[in-house]
Amino acid sequence: MSHPERAAIRNRLLTAALLLLGALPLRAQDGGAIARRYKSAADRIIAAAMADTLAYSRLATMTDTYGSRLSGSPGLERAINWVLARMQDDSFANVRGEPVMVPHWVRGQESATLVSPRPWTLHMLGLGGSVGTPPEGITAPVLVVNSFDDLAAHAAEAKGKIVLFDSPFPTNVPPMEAYEINVAYRGGAASAAAKVGAVAALIRSVTPHSQQTPHTGSLRYQADVPKIPSAALSVEDAELLHRMQNRGDPIVLTLKMQARTLPDAPSRNVVAELRGSERPDEVVVLGGHIDSWDVGEGAMDDAGGAFAAWEAVRLIKALGLKPRRTLRVAMWVNEENGGRGGRAYRDQHLAELPKTIAAMESDNGVFRPYGFRFQGSAAGLAVAKQIGTLLDPIGAGLVEAGDGEADVGATIREGVPGFALSVNDSTYFWYHHTDADMMTVIDRDDFRRCIATMAVMAYVLAEMPEELPRQ
Ligand SMILES: [Zn+2]
Repeated sequence: MSHPERAAIRNRLLTAALLLLGALPLRAQDGGAIARRYKSAADRIIAAAMADTLAYSRLATMTDTYGSRLSGSPGLERAINWVLARMQDDSFANVRGEPVMVPHWVRGQESATLVSPRPWTLHMLGLGGSVGTPPEGITAPVLVVNSFDDLAAHAAEAKGKIVLFDSPFPTNVPPMEAYEINVAYRGGAASAAAKVGAVAALIRSVTPHSQQTPHTGSLRYQADVPKIPSAALSVEDAELLHRMQNRGDPIVLTLKMQARTLPDAPSRNVVAELRGSERPDEVVVLGGHIDSWDVGEGAMDDAGGAFAAWEAVRLIKALGLKPRRTLRVAMWVNEENGGRGGRAYRDQHLAELPKTIAAMESDNGVFRPYGFRFQGSAAGLAVAKQIGTLLDPIGAGLVEAGDGEADVGATIREGVPGFALSVNDSTYFWYHHTDADMMTVIDRDDFRRCIATMAVMAYVLAEMPEELPRQ
């Protein structure tokens, strides 16, 4: 028996034993000593969150007033100013914007127009970071391929053409896994197409569902390959062109993009605190990202997550709870097209990371929460699972090992335990990076449950005398 096989059997036995333990009736009511100690505080927090109206109204006010918040945009800076002012109103401590230089990409006017076999205005969005076209645009024949392999097989036909990757979003795996697979085309289409002589690259939008909504997002140019313009088409339009090719129709389109990258711009991570009553230098940080793409109003991705964390701490404060450790709300900037906010936070707080108890983020939409994905030690996970049982009343008590979110990644890599709010993300990628990411996506009750879930976990982590075990 090979080593991996033996390990697999051991894991199966362990899983069976854990399932048996989990099946004991004790667990459902009693999460252990820590959970018993904080049951009444958790119930108060949940009741307050489930009656909350302020977070939704603030979320709507900010997103409707300032709109989308791409790094470098005036809308982002105005939104940050507004949040900082409201945090002052809330009497948080140490309310501040921590400086971060961010990339400044601007979309400009753009269009993709089918010339042959018939005129048609295609539904498109340029990809973040793309170069533009000449002012008159690029008019060229189109080659549709299914995949990178398919392009390799047809490399000889690609020269001088606009290559369209019509690679569908996998539906046989969970949405986040499907995204990780499919997003390779958004990132890599331009350089793959340029290598075989293409003049522009298009992709089928990265989504399982579409109503003629194109999805933007970042691309990555390889350093040694010419930069060509790249954009996403709606699923419908990608399939349309693919059908035309299959019928042997000659496809020609004109792509016009004014996209350009300006010098880096100053921005800020938003930070505010409820200082700890006994150990203020020990910190539980929780948040989401304040920036968004330049489409829709970024209500779901990720103002909702950032505002859930903000309201979680505001409610704890309003209830008169004074946890031992500091609760810090963070709204990281530039998650979407650079990740500079998350790295700047790690760098600017490096000295205190040994005393940072946990880093928590919500960036999967504020849909119905299940609990958390945890990154850290087995001992830390066991404690987090205990605390999780306090969220069973709202169905959000599931804590399991899993991937974290982007902004806290750099902090977690320094040894800080990580918590990612886990939600029902079955429709997340329908709206992700589109004009449809509006307040309409936000369900008030699910949003309240997200606030409750972040608040209970963060409160107990900050209050319990024991430190959450690290690696
Ligand atoms: Zn996001």
